[in-house]
Amino acid sequence: MPTENERTPATDGQGWEQAFAAEHDVDLRQRTRVRVGGVAKDFVRPRSAQELAQLLRALQQAGRGWRVLGGGSNLLISDAPQTDVIIHPDRLDACVQDGSELVLGAGHVLQRAVNHSTDLGLAGAQVLTGIPGQIGGALAMNAGGRYGAMADVVAWAEVALPDGELHRIEAVDLAFGYRFSRLPQGAVVTQVCWKLQPNDDARSLKREAGRILKEKNEAQPTQAWNFGCMFKNPPGQSAGKLIESVGLKGAQQGDARISPKHGNFIENLGAARAADILTLLERAEDLVRRQCGIGLEREVRVWT
Ligand SMILES: Cc1cc2nc3c(=O)[nH]c(=O)nc-3n(C[C@H](O)[C@H](O)[C@H](O)COP(=O)(O)OP(=O)(O)OC[C@H]3O[C@@H](n4cnc5c(N)ncnc54)[C@H](O)[C@@H]3O)c2cc1C
Repeated sequence: MPTENERTPATDGQGWEQAFAAEHDVDLRQRTRVRVGGVAKDFVRPRSAQELAQLLRALQQAGRGWRVLGGGSNLLISDAPQTDVIIHPDRLDACVQDGSELVLGAGHVLQRAVNHSTDLGLAGAQVLTGIPGQIGGALAMNAGGRYGAMADVVAWAEVALPDGELHRIEAVDLAFGYRFSRLPQGAVVTQVCWKLQPNDDARSLKREAGRILKEKNEAQPTQAWNFGCMFKNPPGQSAGKLIESVGLKGAQQGDARISPKHGNFIENLGAARAADILTLLERAEDLVRRQCGIGLEREVRVWT
């Protein structure tokens, strides 16, 4: 009888649930920063990049769709059950240093990687401090802020593909944009390589990270349950200010509220449902379109 670690995943699309130790009816509220969402009918936490690639092939053969849940910090998941298989790569959390490069598993927590890089006296990633989530999610979203983004430090990413193969993509081919990276259809990020700059003054990197964190905590409701920014900033404009200008700051629907601190954030005051949040989100879109003539583009990923 093989132990759990010796288990050989199925690759023929049959019996994938047992082979990949799928969990059932997993409450996704506990897996998102906004604490909203229904259950995942099937939920899988692969133990390696290879296993993840085999899982994709098995799902493809079984005709099942999938979605990837990282740290759940930029996601609004509907209240209804998720019928696609939810893949959670939190076990891919390795961190390997090679000179000024760090190779990070997709499930590694972004802030831990930032802290590690500054401890090592490696510069570049300190600007990502205070952004919740995992490395894979940060790559998919090209997470960042006014001081820089993932795009500035990524050398390459490895992805698992639906044909069961692992494939390396160089930064230039990820075509990074504002909260965007180009990934192949159905790809799941398995690891990311950061190319950083050696810097003898680790303390100054930490000071810079501390300053950015302070600025962020002062401007945003970072302690409340939320999913970060609802909308991307339109060119030359602030989505938060536009929402404020149409009088929606502090607006409430059920237990969902547009943050009185920052108009581009929605907070869950306790028992908000996805439907409440979507109502507020659509109100903001509608009022800003009608009163300001600007179509807001969603930053948050919505899973219906
Ligand atoms: C308080 C707060 C502050 C925030 N501040 C910022 C900020 O300053 N800048 C910023 O950019 N964002 C910010 N965010 C949003 C969020 O932290 C980032 O978008 C983060 O990078 C999302 O990572 P995640 O692992 O949580 O991804 P998730 O929210 O789990 O997923 C986001 C998207 O990425 C996809 N994805 C996740 N993992 C993978 C993977 N391994 N392979 C392929 N696709 C994947 C998901 O399918 C989904 O489409 C903030 C959020 C909060 C709650």
